[in-house]
Amino acid sequence: MCSQAANPMMSQVCQNLERIRYNVENARTKYRSVNEKIDIMAVTKTVDTEKINFAVESGITLLGENRVQEFLSKKDEYLLEAQVHFIGHLQTNKVKYIINEVTMIQSVDSVRLISEINRQAEKNGRIMDILLEVNIGLEQSKSGVSAQKLKELALQAAEYKNVHVRGLMAIPPIGADESLYAEMNELYHKLDESNIDGIDMDILSMGMSGDYELAIKHGSNLVRIGTGLFGARNYNITEG
Ligand SMILES: *Cc1c(COP(=O)(O)O)cnc(C)c1O
Repeated sequence: MCSQAANPMMSQVCQNLERIRYNVENARTKYRSVNEKIDIMAVTKTVDTEKINFAVESGITLLGENRVQEFLSKKDEYLLEAQVHFIGHLQTNKVKYIINEVTMIQSVDSVRLISEINRQAEKNGRIMDILLEVNIGLEQSKSGVSAQKLKELALQAAEYKNVHVRGLMAIPPIGADESLYAEMNELYHKLDESNIDGIDMDILSMGMSGDYELAIKHGSNLVRIGTGLFGARNYNITEG
């Protein structure tokens, strides 16, 4: 399959993708049940569209974007087969720019943001799928609601008609103890079992290039892979 790649850079992306798929499949077989589906998202920050579209042509159907500005400048070139989720820190004043461009916002951690997503979604006649981001490592530098306040936020989110909570997202700290992954899985199942009206839990988005197998072991069904797929990032692109 990789021999079809047009140049060495693309060939590398292809090989990376094959390795990731193999590892995901292995982890799934080892830790999960046969009919569970695990999605691989390609995280595209700083990656050029040619490479991104190559990943889409190779079967990637889900892209993750972190930066509003960068996304808006690239989105028109993306192949239409792929859906895009927003996964980065989102300022309320930028919600309007992405509301019709993404199928999910994974990085939702405040009522203020939920309220604005709801307002923009209503204005555009749609319902936006969201994930609640949990700051599982309680890191000051990271976004996300604390585990303690998660249920309260979920109950508040459920009151908004144009947002639809589909699950949880987390970025465990680098080198985090395995117990944090287990804790995320537990939070996910607890919230699911709360049977809150208007909330349908079916996505636990956890695991990146360095920890996706561990995340799959602990219930993740959506892994977000950047460098492992596209190689090291070029940080010259400014924050948007
Ligand atoms: C950058 C990023 C990723 C991908 O990280 P890698 O380590 O490059 O795989 C995943 N999720 C979020 C929210 C990110 O910002």
